[in-house]
Amino acid sequence: MLPARDACAAGWALSGGPLTPRILASAAAAVSAAGPAPSPAILETILRETRLEGTIARSLRRRRRLITTSTSQVTAAWDAIARDLHPGPEIRSLLASQTPPDLPDTAAAAASGILSGVYIHGRHATLTAAVRDALHAAIAEGTASALALDAARHGRLTPPAAWTAGRQNAPDQAGIPELPLLAQEWLTRILGATGRQITAMIIRAVTRGTSHGQLCAAVTSALTASGPGPAPASRAIAAYLDQAMVTAAGHAAIAFCQARGIAQARYIAGDRKPCPACQAWQDASPYPAARSPVPGADTHPYCECILLPGT
Ligand SMILES: [Zn+2]
Repeated sequence: MLPARDACAAGWALSGGPLTPRILASAAAAVSAAGPAPSPAILETILRETRLEGTIARSLRRRRRLITTSTSQVTAAWDAIARDLHPGPEIRSLLASQTPPDLPDTAAAAASGILSGVYIHGRHATLTAAVRDALHAAIAEGTASALALDAARHGRLTPPAAWTAGRQNAPDQAGIPELPLLAQEWLTRILGATGRQITAMIIRAVTRGTSHGQLCAAVTSALTASGPGPAPASRAIAAYLDQAMVTAAGHAAIAFCQARGIAQARYIAGDRKPCPACQAWQDASPYPAARSPVPGADTHPYCECILLPGT
């Protein structure tokens, strides 16, 4: 008879997932609960539970990699535009006036004047397409993950090919009519956050009497997402794209439940120390699938939570 520890190890190995603190904790709990002579039924449960934990960890790792790849692609598309944005004229006219009493408004107008160049740039369509592709990839991955998690919950193994098939079977972009609007909305948030940061930067610079040349250089580097250091543009892209993709994957998991007639969903808080809000969502699980909290949408950027179809 397999001891409980071996059942844990076998379940994790079958999942193909990384070994995480969460899996180690659940394995330790299972071993101590099983006692010295666990029955085959208990061992089978341990095997299935550890396999499920491993599949959750694998899903999270795959999603993280996908977000990293998509962020690089959106960053490249952004920088192809940002290198053509010239803050000089906006800043010159701002500095030409005395420090005005309405500096915050003037600075915000200058920032939005500079960023309006993103909308009229010839590569704007390429940038929105990069965001759209990222969302589409997240929807496909969310569907594949839901499929794998549902299988693991039922004690079935999801072979590597099933993940690929799950992504390929997701609807193409034309089958998701809200995708262009969603991409525009997330891009607007990225631009809004970058604009607010640049506004604050201009206000500080004017207050300190920074020269035109220095301020232009600072704004240009703030707009360069792939430059050295965490530029406002790169922080905005990373945070909002992460939230956009986690949200899209979460909605795809709910759509999977609805398509399969799975009535409930369980909210799984991420492996690294979840925030109290995410922990509370997990503790109150399961939820009716249609009304489940959605990681990303109901939480925050860099949320590491995921929805598990079923209870
Ligand atoms: Zn979370």
